[in-house]
This record gives sequence, C-alpha cells and structure tokens, in this order.
Amino acid sequence: MVRYVYDFTEGGREMAGLLGGKGSNLAEMTRLGLPVPPGFVITTEACRAFLTTGGEPPGMSREVSDHLAALEEAAGRRLGQRDDPLLLSVRSGARFSMPGMMETILDIGLNDDSVSGLAKASGSERFARDSYRRLVQMFGATVMGVDAALFERAMTDLEEVRGAGDDLRLDARDLAGLVETYKTVIRRETGEDFPQSPAEQLRRAILAVFQSWNGERARLYRRREHIPDDLGTAVSVQRMVFGNLGADSGSGVAFTRDPATGRPGLYGDYLPDAQGEDVVSGIRNTVPLSELERLDAASYTGLRAHMETLERHYRDLCDIEFTIERGTLWMLQTRVGKRTAEAAFALAAALADEGLITPDEGLARVSGEGLARLMFPRFDTSGDGEPLARGLPASPGAAVGAAVFHSADAVRRAAAGEKVVLVRQETNPDDLPGMIAAQAVLTGRGGKTSHAAVVARGMGKVCVCGAEELTVDTGARRFTAPDGTVVEEGTVVSVDGSTGAVYAGAVPLVDSEVMRFLETGETGEGAGGLVDAVARALGRADTVRRLEVRANADTPEDAARARRFGARGIGLCRTEHMFLGERRKLVEEMILADSRTARDRALAALLPLQRQDFAGILEAMDGLPVTIRLLDPPLHEFLPDRTALAVRVAAAEARGDLPAARDTQLLAAVNRMHEENPMLGLRGVRLGLVVPGLVAMQVRAIGEAVAERLRAGGDPRAEIMVPLVGDARELSIVGEEVRRVLAEVSEAAGTPVGCPVGTMIELPRAALTAGRIAAEAEFFSFGTNDLTQTTWGFSRDDVEAEFFSAYLDKGVFPASPFETIDRDGVGRLVGIAVAEGRAARPDLKIGVCGEHGGDPDSVHFFHAAGLDYVSCSPFRVPVARLEAGRAAL
Ligand code: ADP
Ligand code: MG
Ligand code: MG
Repeated sequence: MVRYVYDFTEGGREMAGLLGGKGSNLAEMTRLGLPVPPGFVITTEACRAFLTTGGEPPGMSREVSDHLAALEEAAGRRLGQRDDPLLLSVRSGARFSMPGMMETILDIGLNDDSVSGLAKASGSERFARDSYRRLVQMFGATVMGVDAALFERAMTDLEEVRGAGDDLRLDARDLAGLVETYKTVIRRETGEDFPQSPAEQLRRAILAVFQSWNGERARLYRRREHIPDDLGTAVSVQRMVFGNLGADSGSGVAFTRDPATGRPGLYGDYLPDAQGEDVVSGIRNTVPLSELERLDAASYTGLRAHMETLERHYRDLCDIEFTIERGTLWMLQTRVGKRTAEAAFALAAALADEGLITPDEGLARVSGEGLARLMFPRFDTSGDGEPLARGLPASPGAAVGAAVFHSADAVRRAAAGEKVVLVRQETNPDDLPGMIAAQAVLTGRGGKTSHAAVVARGMGKVCVCGAEELTVDTGARRFTAPDGTVVEEGTVVSVDGSTGAVYAGAVPLVDSEVMRFLETGETGEGAGGLVDAVARALGRADTVRRLEVRANADTPEDAARARRFGARGIGLCRTEHMFLGERRKLVEEMILADSRTARDRALAALLPLQRQDFAGILEAMDGLPVTIRLLDPPLHEFLPDRTALAVRVAAAEARGDLPAARDTQLLAAVNRMHEENPMLGLRGVRLGLVVPGLVAMQVRAIGEAVAERLRAGGDPRAEIMVPLVGDARELSIVGEEVRRVLAEVSEAAGTPVGCPVGTMIELPRAALTAGRIAAEAEFFSFGTNDLTQTTWGFSRDDVEAEFFSAYLDKGVFPASPFETIDRDGVGRLVGIAVAEGRAARPDLKIGVCGEHGGDPDSVHFFHAAGLDYVSCSPFRVPVARLEAGRAAL
C-alpha cells in the first residue's frame, strides 16, 4: 500500500525526497523536541500522481482526513469550529528549496461564523478580522486565481481613506469591511463565492499547492537552478500559530551565523505583531534580532538555544523562521542556509575547528565557483549610485578604467600607463591586444560563451558582455546608456563582472586577499581568517585528488603564473601567437613562396624565434611536462583580410596606379586559400601533411630548445601534440617526421632529445577509432572545444549569438555545452576513447585541454572518466585543484 501522508512525528530529514525540504525538516525539528506546531505532510509522490492524472491519487483524501482527525483530537478543537476554530496553514515545499516560488495559504478554516468564534476565543476582534482578511486574500489569489494586485489596491485605497500608513492602523471594523470588499472582488472576477466550508478550503488549498509546482515562476526558477521538472512538491498542513496577536507576538527569520561572512553570532530580522509572510514582503520595517532580546528576553534566549541545537544537529549554518504567539516561541521552518562564497570557506574551516565536521566534509561544502569569485578585486558598492546598464556577468571581478572603443587605442593608452576598459559591440581575435591591455572588456552583444567572454575568462580579465541596453557606436567612439547618458572615449567607467553592472565614474575597489595569497603563498592575517580557510580547503583538495592539474599557457609569464597557482605542467601550449606580429611577414613569405628554397628560407627565419619562445616556456616549467601543440589554425588566418586587400587593390587600379606587386600576390593567395568553412578546412594535422617543411621546422625548434635547456642544466619535458587527427594514418605520417627530425637534432646536439608524441582527440572519428590512434600516440588530450563543435555540428562563434539563448530557454540543454561538458554526447565519446585508447596502450596518458578543464561540473566528469589530468587557463588552476579534490571525495 502506498502511503501519501506522514505525520511530522513520523518523518525526518532523510525523507527530503518524499516530504520535501520544508516538510522533512519540520519533522526533524519535531523529532529533536523543538516547539513545532503539529501537522502532517502530503508526499511529493501524491503531487506527481496528481500532476500526471489531474486527480488526487486513490486513498489520499482518506489519509488526509485521518491525519486531520488526529490533529483535531490533539488540539481539542475542530477545523473551523464555530466557537474556537482550529486553523491550518497549507505550505508548499519541494526537495530543493525554491524560496517564494510556490504557494502557501495561511489561516485555513476561517469563515463568516468562525471568525467571531476566533475573536471571542482570542479576545481580539481585530486579530480575528485580520486573519480572515489574510485568508480571503491568499485563497482568492492562489486558489481562485484572482489578480493579487486587485486585493492590494483595495487595501491601499482603504489605508488612504483612513490616513493610515500601514496595515496596523486599520481597526477591526476596517478589516471586516475589507473582507467584504475582497469577497465582492472574488465574485466579480470568478463568478464564484469564497468557499465557507473549511473542508473545501483545505482540499482546494492542497490541490492549489500541487498545481503551483507548474506555475510560471516556479518553472523559470527551476530552469535557472537546474532543478528537474518532475520532482513535484510536498504539502505540509500545520496548525496555525499567531504572530499577529498584538505587541507580545511577532514573526522573524534568523541565521545561526552571518551568511555573508560566516562569522558566529545570531543574525536576523524580527517584526512585532505580524504573520510570517509580512517579514519578507517588506510591508513594514523589521527590527534587528538584537532588539528582540529587549522586547522578549525569554523568547530570545529560547531562540538562541534552539538555533544552537539546530546548528549542532545539522552541523552547518541553518536559517529558520519563527513566530512568537503571546510570549510563546514556535519554530516554523529550518534549512541549511544559503551563503556567500566567503562564508562558505570561513564556515568550513570554523566548523572543522569546532569538531563538527571533518576536513573532507569541509571540502565538500566549498566550491570552485566560490573560490573564483574570491580571487577577483571587488567593488565597494556601499555608496554607489545606480548602474548605467546591466549586461551578462561573463568573467567575474571589478575593474575601473577609461572607456576606449578600439583595440589600438587600448594598447596605446595602456602603454602610456592609463587604465582602460575596452568597449566593443562584440570582439574578434583582432581585438586581442586591446583585451590584454584593458582592465575589462564590455560588449553590447554576445552571450557568456561569446569570444569576449571566453577569452576574458581565460585571461582572468573582467568581462561584461551582451549589455544590449547600451548603444555602442565604435565609429563615433562613444556609447549611450538607456537614461541618455553618453560616455565618450576617455570617460571613466566601472565594470562589475560578478554582477554584470556598468557604472559611470570610478567605484572604489578593494583588493582580493585570496588572490594575493594564491600568487605569493602568504597567508597574511594568519589563522582564523578567510585566506587561512581557503588555504586549508585547497590543501585538503591537493591531498585527496587523483586528477593532476595543468595549465594552458603560451608564454613564459603565463607558465610562471600557472606554476605559482599550483599547475603541474602545461597541458596546452598554443603556438599561433608565435606567428603573429612582426613574424607575420615571414609567415606571408612562407605562404607565398613559389619554390622550395624560398619556403625554406622563410621557415629558417622563423625557426630561431620559435626556439627562443619554447626555451623560455620550458625554463619556466622546468621539471614539469609541457605539451606543445603543432600549428593548428588555417594559414589564411595569418594573411591580411580578404576584403581589405581587395579594396586596396581595386582602389589602386581605380586611381590608375598599379597595385603593389605584393598586394596582388597576397590577394591571389588569399583568394586561393579562401574557405567557406575554415573550421572544417585545411588546418590541424592536415597542414602538416600538405605544407612541406612546416612540421619539421616546428619540431626542430622544439628539439633545439630542449637541447639548449639540457645544456643549461635544466630538466625540459616537452611533449609534441598533433591537433585535429581523425585517422591513425595521419598521425603515423607526422609521427615519423617528428622522430626523424628529433633524431637529427639529437645527433647535432650530441645528446638524445626525445619527446613523447601524442594527439588531440577533437573529432568524433578520432574518438571512435581511438584504439588504432593509440597505437601511434603516446598520449591523448581531449580538445573538448572542437570536440563539442564537431559533435554537435555547430560553430561556436556563430551559434552563440544566434540561438543559444533560445536553446537554453527551451531547455534543449541546461547549460551551454561550451561551458559545461555535454555528458550524454561529447562525454560518451570521451568514454569510448578512454576505454579503447587504454585497451590498446595501457600506459596511455590522458588529459583534457579545452575550456572545460576549468569548469567545476566538467572536472567531476573527467575525474569519473578516469583521466590523468585536466588543463585550464592559469587563473582557473586553483578552481580545478579544488574541484578535482571534491570530485575525489
Ligand atoms: P515560503 O516557502 O514562501 O517561505 P512558507 O510555507 O514558509 O512559504 O510560509 C510562508 C509564511 O507563512 C512563512 O513566513 C511562515 O513562517 C508562515 N507560516 C507558515 N505556516 C505557519 C503556521 N502554521 N503558523 C504561522 N505562520 C506560518
Ligand atoms: Mg518559508
Ligand atoms: Mg582544436
């Protein structure tokens, strides 16, 4: 027999799935002997049945009647009894807390008769009328679907007539009149009367709470919080206690510690002469909890004791709702409280010190996202005005600088020592120098995985993207805010990447002590502080984690920083940037070369430059692996823009001049190499098979750099990684060339220079043929950015702006697959490649070097998939360390 109803005395917090968070915790508090008004819970299972069939499951109403009868028996009063009515609250409460998203109805059981009985029994006519007013209002809005604003308007109108500032100034007569007005509104709006039968009120309230699971607000909230849609809500039915019985009554909310900092000490708000919903609704000003000590010392002392009981029992920060009825304290709700990142770390350390939790439990209670937030400088927003606009908080932190609208301006002003914010409609790879020079990047368009956002996060740079309220006019070098404020180039703005807010002027900044610690290892203020708490969590994570953490770094500076942040090597060293800037000329020459000698000449000029780059990086990562990826992007990315060139050539012709020979030549090359779909074109390993000498030059540069470091007494550990392989044969061809060149370098250097050769797995075909590829590869590194693009068949730069928000809204995916690994699709390919790769080569080293390597949820997936390491941007290294530790718990 399925049971649908449990008394508070029968449940406990282990039953949260069935009784919901609120119901199971009410049961838990009852079990602990805390003063909880008695009641029972109707299960989420009943709700699920109701939502699928549209009717109550068989037997449910019988069970409800039985439990109600027991409640009435214990109270010595019946629901809605005329002379002294028992009143009930009907409360929603799902497995995961969804504060305020569903419905709760108070004072069930009152009607035109029992309201007089309540007045007599309580000795307060005003209280009885106020309670009835609340019931008709809540029932009308929630159960009968009347627009809540109509009730509020009626109340405000009355307050105006009475010259009353708030509801407390309305007397019993006023409130009785208000009930009649409300009833008229209900009749007008629904053609139905407010039901006088307490049994009918109860039944309809329960079903309305079930239904509120599918309310618009609740659905939206679940989507945002990634809560499944099919859990359903439980319903708690509970005897009412009254905080609106006069000055010796009231309601409040409280935390066992400060949820902002984690510091000990009760923390909360209290509202005298009020029912619970008034505290959060802001209809009157609350007083701090300390005031309660003055108003009602006994209740305050009781509250403190109960909260200590709860914190010890839950071994965590709890928040509670309570009500005092004529000097008697009642506990109405508790749960493990939400908290800021700072409080999470502080609490984990403090509770471990108090012996309440183990270090592993402490680690489980902090998060990489929280750590990331603590690493950025913050705005001190205590005195600021309204933001100019809000965009998407794409990369956290706070930055102040003069607005500039072009990459070159950012570089120029920054070189002159000025702090700048780069404002663009959207960014592209050409803006990179400006992004590097700027304190923050602000874009008018694009989502959280747009170019600006991804690059900024990678660099640990503040970014707000998609600020669509702004009109960005890069041509005129200014943007306009919705309120008409025009921000010209050079005007100082403040950008908050943690909230998405953009302010005019300089909002003051406070440095991140956590960042200082991570960079220097200095714990500053010592034990007991936030930095100490962070250090302890990270230390624990390093002890328990199995995944190694490397960094994606392309320069010696990045490599050194990554090392300070705890990276144990480089998982991805891109070489593209080594072909830019001054070197572009040489690359052009190589591409334009019409003979073997001309090409070799260009390559030979590039070689020493690359060698120096590699030597620097190997030195910074001495003793640790450095995975160097051979050139990946299509070569035309290094040539001038096709349109610009065509215009230049055409303009010269129009003037009657001969276009410069080089321009004509370049244009021909650009036209020849133009690809409709460069992402799937001539790139990656394909370049190596088609452009003679390209692989050899790069491998020679790597090999010679290794030899140079060896001569200098270093311990270089270069690994050569071949991108975009789809077939084992591609890798065997390139691998052969790599080994040939390394043998030559060894011979010339007079010392063996060996580098493991491996491949990126970033095409579905590579994953599906991983067994054969592993025969040629000494390591795999999942390039999950491209693997996501090629698995889904969409190009990140294009889909992002176009339809990702629609896909997220419609729930096609819960999060962008570029931020969090798509476990079902891309993840499955990872699983296949790991299994078949290891079967073919048991000592195969396997890592991941996409953006996902620094994403908490993805790190947990990679741990479970059995990878050896994740590699991410230097700034995400501490995050990945922490999450790798949490994954191993
Ligand atoms: P929410 O999930 O929106 O907080 P609740 O079910 O907690 O909804 O109820 C809303 C308000 O009503 C809360 O302030 C709560 O304390 C109060 N409340 C609920 N049940 C009772 C009760 N039995 N007696 C007095 N107040 C109650
Ligand atoms: Mg509540
Ligand atoms: Mg790739």
